[in-house]
Amino acid sequence: MSGFHHLALIGMGLIGSSIARAARAALPDLAISGFDSDAATVERVSALGLCDQVHQDYAALAEADLVILCVPVGAIGTVASDIAPHLHKNAVISDVGSCKASVLADLAQQLPGHSIIPAHPVAGTEKSGPDAGFASLFAGRWCIITPPDNANIDDVQKVSDFWTDLGANVETMDAEHHDMVLAVTSHLPHLIAYTIVGTASDLEDVTRSEVIKYSAGGFRDFTRIAASNPVMWRDVFMSNKEAVLAMLQRFTEDLTALQRAIRRDEGDVLEEMFTRTRDIRRNIIEEGQDVAAPDFGRERKDQ
Ligand code: NAP
Repeated sequence: MSGFHHLALIGMGLIGSSIARAARAALPDLAISGFDSDAATVERVSALGLCDQVHQDYAALAEADLVILCVPVGAIGTVASDIAPHLHKNAVISDVGSCKASVLADLAQQLPGHSIIPAHPVAGTEKSGPDAGFASLFAGRWCIITPPDNANIDDVQKVSDFWTDLGANVETMDAEHHDMVLAVTSHLPHLIAYTIVGTASDLEDVTRSEVIKYSAGGFRDFTRIAASNPVMWRDVFMSNKEAVLAMLQRFTEDLTALQRAIRRDEGDVLEEMFTRTRDIRRNIIEEGQDVAAPDFGRERKDQ
């Protein structure tokens, strides 16, 4: 058990509302306050009964001993500045942002003197908003905690315990390493998906209806990723610029090598590469990060 008594969630979208649901289920004694800048979201979260209280203004923040910012990474600095006057001086401040170095810098700048323990639950979907959240989102998924060098060890442990209580596996690493790892496992795949879907929709010789009709050939799996929240992903690429550009450089070189192998009829080069990539998929399934069922377990209409 984490030892926190009152959780405040700033931003009640997919991740904020999923934390509320998961905390309700796992930590029934924890008081939960939700905050959102949008009146319609506040109303919806109230109707869903996800929190003990839901507010548009930050006055009620003073009661919270754990405050988690669940807003796009580009909004973290502004939101931190807005909440600063209302925080309890001993409140632990965390977040769920998909990149960590820029978030840590923004939080440290806006909230000096506070205990800042950033975190990133590596779990999500392409959906947004409070209706998209669900309690089991973090179960069996990794949550990466990126404490600054001067972090309070007890608070790191408490934040770690909180995520364990929600069902996540917790790992700790420094923010720069996190950003490099996530650049290749998450940010680059999103960039590739956005590119492929964009390219397909701009083709002159293949119609849009043909792209949609024959999408089961692989394209539709990219479309799920490319349907992700545009604001969130804009902010990820703006905030994790260096690491993404470094990975993109590597990717471009590797893609060029495959392009050359195709042009030179070097089938063995392709086969060797495709055999290695198959092993990665096998390892992901063995580690319980995806299902082994063919086609991601999709049910066919005729079944
Ligand atoms: P979401 O469903 O779109 O929710 C975003 C929330 O942030 C909404 O409550 C929104 O308020 C609020 N917000 C947006 N811009 C704001 C601003 N300028 N000032 C104040 N509040 C603002 O997005 P999400 O998927 O929950 O993402 C939230 C965070 O989680 C992001 O930092 C993202 O990097 C991280 N994350 C996402 C995933 C994922 O797969 N989606 C996974 C792990 C981590 P309104 O009600 O006004 O729209």
